[in-house]
Amino acid sequence: MQLTILGTAAAEGWPAPFCRCIACQEARSRKGPDIRTRAGAIIDNVIKIDFSADTVSQLQRTGRDLCNIHSLVFTHQHSDHIVPTELEWACEPYTVTPSKVPIKVYGNCVVTGMIRAEFPEPLDVNLDVQPDLQPFVEVELEDGTRILPLPADHCEHALLLRIRRPDGKTIFWGHDSGRLPAETVSALGQAGPVDIAVFDCTFGGQPSNNRGHLGVDGVIEMVSALRTLDVIVDATTVVATHFSHNGGLLHDDLIRTFAPHGVNVAHDGVTYTV
Ligand SMILES: [Zn+2]
Ligand SMILES: [Zn+2]
Ligand SMILES: [Zn+2]
Repeated sequence: MQLTILGTAAAEGWPAPFCRCIACQEARSRKGPDIRTRAGAIIDNVIKIDFSADTVSQLQRTGRDLCNIHSLVFTHQHSDHIVPTELEWACEPYTVTPSKVPIKVYGNCVVTGMIRAEFPEPLDVNLDVQPDLQPFVEVELEDGTRILPLPADHCEHALLLRIRRPDGKTIFWGHDSGRLPAETVSALGQAGPVDIAVFDCTFGGQPSNNRGHLGVDGVIEMVSALRTLDVIVDATTVVATHFSHNGGLLHDDLIRTFAPHGVNVAHDGVTYTV
């Protein structure tokens, strides 16, 4: 299984457009992995997670397209995770090679409401909006992938995703969220080990205080809790992402800070293969 993380910033991107803080200025000068765009990922070239306004440029930069995507899965309704108007590019004339079968779209009730408001029924875009995702209610995608939505500590109805591909490989997609709710930790414990675990690290070097995101300390705490339950095992690839300039730690600082804890620091376009 291949997970490509296209964007690794918090909502405003890093450097942020209206900001000249030290972390933004330093990122402008260092470039490379310190340039971070908004959230989104692709799994095995067939499943897209979230769709920020940066998606088009992310695909251009990585030489990819979404022509093989059969399912688009949203975590929550914040604008760095969904911009409904951007979904129009899935239909003609914005593509000359539209998907023959409409792309299935999964999200919570707010997300599906936003899409239906943008594209009134019958949907005049090449999308097939599925019943709202509910916490703890597993859904099966058309290729046999199973997704278990779990509550986040973030905004109302925000979901984290335990994704099991048909070959048995699994991802815990753990952002956006503060410290994981107890029932989410418990459900993960019952579901068994994962191959990749991805965490929210918006606050970087600032302390986690459950304002809906984590910093380095909270990621380490959550990794430790999930190790105790054998959700994270020695073979698990653990990844931190969704970084804000307000966290202060640049890419190299994050790598140094996380290295003793076995946590990988994502950068835009990184692919993890398990
Ligand atoms: Zn976010
Ligand atoms: Zn800044
Ligand atoms: Zn959010």
